[in-house]
Amino acid sequence: MADDSSSQTYNRVLLKLSGEQLSGKYDSGIDAEFGAWLAAEIKKVVDSGTQVVIMVGGGNYARGAQLAGHGIRRVTADHIGMLATMMNALALTDIFESCDIPTRCLSNIFAEQVAEPFVHRLANNHLKKGRVVIVAGGIGRPYLTTDTAAVSLALELDCELVMKATKVDGVYDRDPAKYPDAAKIAHLSLQAAVSDDNIKVMDKAALGLAMEHQLPIIIFNSTEPDNILNAAHGRGGTTIN
Ligand code: UDP
Repeated sequence: MADDSSSQTYNRVLLKLSGEQLSGKYDSGIDAEFGAWLAAEIKKVVDSGTQVVIMVGGGNYARGAQLAGHGIRRVTADHIGMLATMMNALALTDIFESCDIPTRCLSNIFAEQVAEPFVHRLANNHLKKGRVVIVAGGIGRPYLTTDTAAVSLALELDCELVMKATKVDGVYDRDPAKYPDAAKIAHLSLQAAVSDDNIKVMDKAALGLAMEHQLPIIIFNSTEPDNILNAAHGRGGTTIN
């Protein structure tokens, strides 16, 4: 682990994992082998004494905005998207438990045969006992993404940091895939992230909600060893606060 004077210790963090992250080496679905690698990385955060809430996306199966049309209503498409997040959350819960991480899956979609309903008090109790809480179904309402749901959930559960896992190591001034000389931005204000149209790393709705409540966000590459632990201490990536 890098020793960095900017290191912070957080009591509770929220990790946003997209569906694309969970698909790993595949084009869609779940890469369970990569999921187990992620679980081992997240265990380092749990073992360091930080409580972890996870919001999972569903883009490896369905995204409402893309699915809507040709007769499928947007609300229905978003319901399908939320059900996609549930499939990921269930798989991830099993993977975490197989890696000896005490975990509970709580759902914001009514699905009592497969997951406990999300109840604020229950989630808090699980977290205080050191269990990872994986939330399925976003926040249960359409016209939102799991980025916005992640910020909302982080506020609800008093998380001190939102960690958005990506495949790039932060925010760049230009698309690094297109421009080899693109420069990484180490720090950005929430205000700048909301108002700059070139910043597309997170929904504006999510950034706006974080700005209103001064909730810091870290954008980082979760696919390198120790990066999740480092991000949970405010190191690496791009900090938006
Ligand atoms: N979704 C929703 N309400 C929520 C969270 C998610 O309607 O609170 C739907 C929405 O259609 C979204 C889909 O679920 O596109 C999957 O989530 P997302 O696109 O955020 O997944 P990711 O891109 O992070 O994998």
